[in-house]
Amino acid sequence: MEREIDLKAVSDGRLYGANDMVKADCGDCEGCSACCRGMGTSIILDPLDIFRMTGYLNCSFEQLLEERIELQVVDGMILPNLKMAGADEACSFLNREGRCTIHPARPGICRIFPLGRLYENGAFRYFLQIHECKKQNRTKIKVKKWIDTPEAATNEQFICDWHYLLKDAERVIQEKKDDEVSKNWNLYLLKLFYMKPYQMGEAFYPQFYQRYFEAREVLERL
Ligand code: SF4
Ligand code: SF4
Repeated sequence: MEREIDLKAVSDGRLYGANDMVKADCGDCEGCSACCRGMGTSIILDPLDIFRMTGYLNCSFEQLLEERIELQVVDGMILPNLKMAGADEACSFLNREGRCTIHPARPGICRIFPLGRLYENGAFRYFLQIHECKKQNRTKIKVKKWIDTPEAATNEQFICDWHYLLKDAERVIQEKKDDEVSKNWNLYLLKLFYMKPYQMGEAFYPQFYQRYFEAREVLERL
């Protein structure tokens, strides 16, 4: 999801790469779970998130949809997001002690928080959201370490490729101005990247890219 933001207002004005040090480390969060509550529909899930979650929970995408996640339209694309529910609008993976019960398989947006991503010229860099994390006196940590994601370079490429596939699709759909084309593309995207199960015993990225190149070809022909 791409949003117009005033970087000066929401960040420390700097952009960070994977090897930079950033003041994002809130320690162990120490009982705080503020960013797991009241997040609305903002924790949008990409195919890697679904691969991780369905593997960790040994369930299907459809089972996640029953109560854990929901679908929304983001810039013309139908995408899943973590569902916040209950009086305190909490993520369903948050336990009573305020801990994430899927920590090893938590989504990418949860991993980078309080960092955000700024996409530019086919790439992205991180920015530090200074008003989001409730913890005072955060310490410095290398971005790569904070994000805690294996195969960092491959992961960055995946994040970019996924983002720009959605952006290109959004542009094409807008140009077509055809509800049927939009509906068919969205169903195709949802089935191909989210509903079609991934092989859990195999690496994610080769499986993703097989689907990605197929989707690129389909998009070309729209
Ligand atoms: S998945 Fe875990 S880290 Fe992410 S919002 Fe839910 S409880 Fe918090
Ligand atoms: S707001 Fe900051 S300290 Fe609180 S749970 Fe989120 S990352 Fe941790």
